[in-house]
Amino acid sequence: MKQFQFIYHNQTQFRKELIKIQQWQKNRITSSILFDIFSESLNQNLLSEICRTIDEILPEASYRGCSTNGNIMEGCVQTEIVIVCSVGEYPSTRMEVVQMPLNAENAVQTVQELSAVIAERPWIKMIEMLVTIRGMSMTEFCDELGKLPKEIEIFGGGAFSSDMDNEACVFSKNGEYSSSSVVFLLAGGEDFHVTTLHVTGWKPLGKKFLVTRAEGSILYELDGKPAYDAYYKYLNIRNDEHFFSNTLEFPFFYEHHGLNILRAPIASNADGSLTMTSNIEENVVARIAYGDPWTILERIRQSGQNIREFQPDTIRVYSCAARRTFWGMDEISKETQPFQSVAPTSGFYTSGEFLRTNGFVNQHNVTLVVAGFREGEPAFAESPEFHMHQEQFSGKVSMINRLATFIEAATEELEQANQKLEFMAVSDGLTQLCNRREIERRIKASLKERSHHPEKPLCLIMLDIDNFKQVNDQFGHKEGDHVIIGLSGLLRENVKKYNPDSAVGRWGGEEFMLMIQHPLDYAKEAAEQIRKEFEAIDFENSVGHRTVSVGVTEFIAGEDSDSLCIRVDKALYQAKKSGKNRVVVL
Ligand code: GH3
Ligand code: MG
Ligand code: MG
Repeated sequence: MKQFQFIYHNQTQFRKELIKIQQWQKNRITSSILFDIFSESLNQNLLSEICRTIDEILPEASYRGCSTNGNIMEGCVQTEIVIVCSVGEYPSTRMEVVQMPLNAENAVQTVQELSAVIAERPWIKMIEMLVTIRGMSMTEFCDELGKLPKEIEIFGGGAFSSDMDNEACVFSKNGEYSSSSVVFLLAGGEDFHVTTLHVTGWKPLGKKFLVTRAEGSILYELDGKPAYDAYYKYLNIRNDEHFFSNTLEFPFFYEHHGLNILRAPIASNADGSLTMTSNIEENVVARIAYGDPWTILERIRQSGQNIREFQPDTIRVYSCAARRTFWGMDEISKETQPFQSVAPTSGFYTSGEFLRTNGFVNQHNVTLVVAGFREGEPAFAESPEFHMHQEQFSGKVSMINRLATFIEAATEELEQANQKLEFMAVSDGLTQLCNRREIERRIKASLKERSHHPEKPLCLIMLDIDNFKQVNDQFGHKEGDHVIIGLSGLLRENVKKYNPDSAVGRWGGEEFMLMIQHPLDYAKEAAEQIRKEFEAIDFENSVGHRTVSVGVTEFIAGEDSDSLCIRVDKALYQAKKSGKNRVVVL
């Protein structure tokens, strides 16, 4: 694969460039020529003129293009218009451009039509797309793309427009300049190879938020509160005209299809909801992420190694416009330039990046999607270096990295402390079983569930160690504790055998309560089993064999937990009165 990359200045210069390509091609066998036109400008006349010139000088070439938020040429950011010409040098390589209309109503149909096109072209190995997405949910489109044959790599970028009056556009040899279309490049052939990856590098910051309400790309609530509150409370970002640029550096980070996906807010609304760059799901755990230059570059370095091993002839990069805002014009090329050391690298700054990973097509934001293309087998035994300056890791970046690490570590500690507190609040210190409040809460919760499902069985088993005072008096409190711990261990083991909703707690000193979601016969059997097993334990230090009395009762539809607990207590009392070391069912 041969590639020419240059900036468009004017028609005269452009013609010269095309003629150069024409001459290069003359004495060579080439299979297909494709022009990518990445344009910051939305000037339709100018773009049409560029297309016409290609038609005139290289009529066999195909082309496609889109509006961008800046372009990438030779690994570096370039404004205005960048033209990339890729030429297949293997006869088997095939590249075909297909443009289709795309809007909220026809997304599924469009992919189905694409699917029919693909079915007739078994040579296809990748689908690279330029797509207009403003204001549109891409979920259906992505899900439908995910149904295409698994071996096809799918990736691409969203066309960009910062101009409110002019919508982002795509265009191609096969279709018109359009603000609601997708241009697919279908490429493949026996000797054509492609590899893809994505890099974010954004680091989640501490606190977790549950997305309690979201609809499409509108994020209404986090932890039941207006989503905007999170930005104000934790980052002091005000709801003013700078909201967009301020939050761009702090997108949300959540797991989707097993991947970490970023979503940035693009507007905050009067009701406190946020309009996100694309859809966000309800009930996912999201965290605010922070772009940490050091981590980003470290990730780039790792990705670079993978791309390097593939030995691509050319590299395509789709980078989110938010990354450009994050780094600033002077530093943005730091994360793309290293790819140029492996192969000619081109692309643009997008509004949404797409990549198929593990079969799913995801719409990313704030992400770098990288594809490497190669014709034939890797040429070198030793892959080329992925050249990245060590200096790029020093300076101002280390401070931010340290602070992010500090927050991460502090949050981790807090989370662990919280988990410990949560456990302590519901468990008994000596036995680690549920404490009385917790087992009562669980009984009440189960009874509440029975009001909808009265057919589900539920029994209580209450146990009290016999003559326990005597253990304390004769052998000391410590030995008494051992007996309590012995019985709780036995209960814990037994409860594991029942169904998962069963629970056991310490009711009082040497009294325990078991809630078991089985019918009475089963509960009675279980109680008898526990009684026998306990009796069989030979406690150390002459404490020897002890016994336990047990009451069992079954829930009667309509009763409350007090009435249920009183009955099981009565059953236990009867077991005591009738001679201890026995099970009484009431
Ligand atoms: P019964 O067979 O009728 O149940 O007689 P009992 O001696 O077991 O019952 P009683 O209620 O008279 O005594 C219970 C004793 O349990 C009294 C209390 O000091 C002791 N106890 C309560 N909590 C603990 C504890 O955590 N550790 C120890 N070692 N003893 C405890
Ligand atoms: Mg007792
Ligand atoms: Mg007692």
